[in-house]
Amino acid sequence: MSRPSKYHLPEEAPADSFSAEFARLPLTELAYRSRHADAARVEAILRCGQAESLEDFAALLSPAAGAHLETLAAHSQRLTQRFFGKAVRLFAPLYLSNECVNVCTYCGFSRHNDIPRITIPIETVEEQTAKLARQGFRSLLLVAGEHPKYVSNGYVEECVRRCLPHMPGVSIELGPMEAEDYRPLVVAGAEALIVYQETYHRPTYEVLHTAGPKKYYAWRMDTPERGYQAGFRRLGIGALFGLHDWRYEALAVAAHARYLLRKCWKAQVSISLPRMRPAAGGFQPDPSFLMSDREMTQTVCALRMLLPHAGVTLSTREPANLRDGLVRLGVTLMSAGSSTEPGGYDAFDETTWAAAEDQAGEQFHIADERPPAAIAAMIRAQGYEAVWKDHDAALATAS
Ligand code: SF4
Repeated sequence: MSRPSKYHLPEEAPADSFSAEFARLPLTELAYRSRHADAARVEAILRCGQAESLEDFAALLSPAAGAHLETLAAHSQRLTQRFFGKAVRLFAPLYLSNECVNVCTYCGFSRHNDIPRITIPIETVEEQTAKLARQGFRSLLLVAGEHPKYVSNGYVEECVRRCLPHMPGVSIELGPMEAEDYRPLVVAGAEALIVYQETYHRPTYEVLHTAGPKKYYAWRMDTPERGYQAGFRRLGIGALFGLHDWRYEALAVAAHARYLLRKCWKAQVSISLPRMRPAAGGFQPDPSFLMSDREMTQTVCALRMLLPHAGVTLSTREPANLRDGLVRLGVTLMSAGSSTEPGGYDAFDETTWAAAEDQAGEQFHIADERPPAAIAAMIRAQGYEAVWKDHDAALATAS
């Protein structure tokens, strides 16, 4: 992976990029407002039924808005049903490799952790994709650590090609690349690019990412734009909640999504709000940064009021009861029956979808271990459709 020298200093990011716009946003002030909004301001936004600005969104994250969670949830449900219908799209992650050159203090795959390292052979990728297809999945997310030797473009391209006959929707979550390095993946048929900033708070980012290319904050932040340039027409962004103040992160990811919807206007944008889970390395988040289930619900609903067209993704990091509740309140994409270990699906029984052995090499431990069929049944029991594959894939491909 090549990186132009202009990116070696993040402050030299292109002037028309999100990282440049983000540096001008008064995020700290907005985060302060999100903690101190008064009830009258919140009630005025709720009467209007939508958030028209980041300032409105900040107010909807406040403790004052938390007191109106039922009203917020009703608005979110109404808006979600209007723009997405009563449907939740299901997907499975497939971990290709835990080789990684980065030190990310909170991640089980961080290069300083002494764990067995593996990049699974393409034949195994294809077998496990077929196994996931037999569970009903038609959307797959290929995930890998960042390693120029093991996770090279050629390997991932071939994985995409070999997965597509089993799985018509293939997305990728890899280390950031140049647009020209993404193009072969788009040509191979990958439909979506997922990249999380982890934390948008730059001082925290620099403390947590101490080695490897990931330490380039602005380079990572501008990745979705390079992916769009390369032809991806689905872009997924997110923050890892637990690394910094959750209101700051929610404001930042909302600002990023608004920017992408404006600049990358042909793309569908989805937002993910993963919370920290136990992982190798034993990283302990600052308790004051942790987001409660109620605050997570409030954030999902507030996002919907600001960004009615954006997808919202919820992974198996979250507990079953919260996932069940959020089906009706704004979530549009869910993973199910996940393994976060490269090759981990080998251990899963095809009938029960229970793992026969510990997932010792997993990136993090999931909270919702229910099999895919149980998740689909839960969604249907709430009067929603469990969608295994979007019907608009043709619209999402490069044009
Ligand atoms: S978060 Fe990603 S880049 Fe960082 S150590 Fe884990 S796999 Fe590597």
